[in-house]
Amino acid sequence: MTDPRSALVLFSGGQDSTACLAWALERYAHVETLGFDYAQRHSVELEARLHVRNELHTHFPHWAARLGDDHLLDMSLLSQISDTAMTAERAIEINAEGLPNTFVPGRNLLFFMFAATLAYRRGLSVLIGGMCETDFSGYPDCRDNTLKALQVALSLGVARPMTIETPLMWLDKAQTWALSAALGGEALNALIVEHTHTCYLGDRSQRHDWGYGCGQCPACALRARGFNAWRQHGDAPFADTGVMDTLT
Ligand code: ZN
Repeated sequence: MTDPRSALVLFSGGQDSTACLAWALERYAHVETLGFDYAQRHSVELEARLHVRNELHTHFPHWAARLGDDHLLDMSLLSQISDTAMTAERAIEINAEGLPNTFVPGRNLLFFMFAATLAYRRGLSVLIGGMCETDFSGYPDCRDNTLKALQVALSLGVARPMTIETPLMWLDKAQTWALSAALGGEALNALIVEHTHTCYLGDRSQRHDWGYGCGQCPACALRARGFNAWRQHGDAPFADTGVMDTLT
């Protein structure tokens, strides 16, 4: 049954946010997408997100009718307030706090606040992001409690109910592949392999079973490991993990 509310998906063009977009399109009557341009070292993700939207629109007609406008916000100010491996030519490493230096403190809080402001103007009341505690990289702004607190603050701050949904919060990467397979079958996972982008280095010169990427960076390693686990075990082992419950 379709939820009559309208949703805004934080959509980067990666595997996780594409799974979230499919989840939203299956569930909500109207779904818009939001991307953030914050001077990443590569524009591959920004191109990927348009390809993914086009492919979804072409190959999943029952979702196409629900897929609304795309929005892209210029967040180049992030490079003024942080100095990290995502925005500067530096190697990815783990800092003294145990966080990867790709970490931009509070980035997801900022993203959700901008999303809520846009959602208010567009008449959307559900904000959806691909944050996840299970494959936890140590990002405190991805935690379930952080985002539940933010949901309350946003709803009070705009004096309108805002719901934050994070369908991947308790899934590992293999279960994320299983979720997208359940939502859109092999066709959706083939689309994710071919068109989404995850690699931190923006490498699309090497094609693997799980998609394009350098194969070495933490993002590639995580994606490859999850894909192989899903391929090895299929969807069945995940049937009793709650993955399928998120579809009802
Ligand atoms: Zn990589």
